[in-house]
Amino acid sequence: MLEDKNQSRTSLSSLGEFKLIDHLTNETVIHHENTVKGIGDDCAVLGEGEKKTLITTDLLIEGVHFDLSYMPLKHLGYKAVMVNLSDIYAMNGEAKQITVSLAVSNRFPLEALEELYAGIHLACNTYKVDLVGGDTTSSTKGLLISITAIGEAKEADVVYRNGAKSNDLLVVTGDLGAAYLGLQVLEREKQVFQVDPNAEHELDKYTYLVERQLKPEARKDVVKLLSDLEVSPSSMIDISDGLSSEILHLCKQSNTGCQVYEDKIPLDQEVISTCEEFNMDSTTIALNGGEDYELLFTVKQEDFHKIKANPNFSIIGHMTEDTGIVQLVTRGGQKVDIEAQGWNALD
Ligand code: ADP
Ligand code: MG
Repeated sequence: MLEDKNQSRTSLSSLGEFKLIDHLTNETVIHHENTVKGIGDDCAVLGEGEKKTLITTDLLIEGVHFDLSYMPLKHLGYKAVMVNLSDIYAMNGEAKQITVSLAVSNRFPLEALEELYAGIHLACNTYKVDLVGGDTTSSTKGLLISITAIGEAKEADVVYRNGAKSNDLLVVTGDLGAAYLGLQVLEREKQVFQVDPNAEHELDKYTYLVERQLKPEARKDVVKLLSDLEVSPSSMIDISDGLSSEILHLCKQSNTGCQVYEDKIPLDQEVISTCEEFNMDSTTIALNGGEDYELLFTVKQEDFHKIKANPNFSIIGHMTEDTGIVQLVTRGGQKVDIEAQGWNALD
């Protein structure tokens, strides 16, 4: 498999996902002037004129990213589209088209794939996105879905991860941690059912958490809201791997530090009560749980009045000039370094 059979072997998990991508791509050569932004943001940005094309792709694997014992196929189809649209909105763009590629084992009957596509079509119709192609092939085991989303934005409107400046406010949409807790609830139910297939479902208390896990919505509405409010974020990213990991991305690419205030992190009441019940720390869950698909962005201090009263936004901190110093200011006033503990799919 390896051309040089004597070469040493480095385990992928010792690198982690982000270092692996860096390692594999740092010698990438850009050959075309119309490649405005290549690797390193939520989307690539392409095109010569004033109008830019945005492109992003994601791969979902059964057993790694989803478990069909509690993920209905219709929801899976919907979520697979959302994951991609979220990256288009994270560039402040409008999603226009998707392609869908499938690898599927013969364990799946036609009816299963019809359900998957019911979810894909529902997402496309709700978000006004056109399904324009893809590829279908067989797999020896399980289901793989790869979706590519294509979007558009005016050059002046595109928001990158690297534009944050010292003193900019750090803002997050919605609330955090619910999708991760939803996954914990579903995993727990699965284990109960493995022991006792006749056990009663006990999900009523957790409807919001389960919905956030099974039917996330990408924040198309936020892109419109920012435009209506005449707010141009200086940097933006979507929250797929957890708040801490995404803050670190913004800081690294913008060469800033950041202070985040624990008491400002938005949590739904169900997250708070479930954390109490499960004996988990809600701040840790909000920082490190994944799959929220909210947007995280920075704005200039002058824009404070435009966003301060909006229920969609929480101002959770500010950027600093201390490059690389990213800290959580706890409720007790202590400063704790934030480290990424997002998903490491390579473990
Ligand atoms: P996101 O979480 O927004 O989907 P990722 O962390 O997956 O972004 O990827 C970060 C950047 O690395 C993106 O620009 C993505 O296109 C790029 N990337 C990821 N995997 C590869 C790969 N195998 N080869 C080239 N580029 C990659
Ligand atoms: Mg992203």
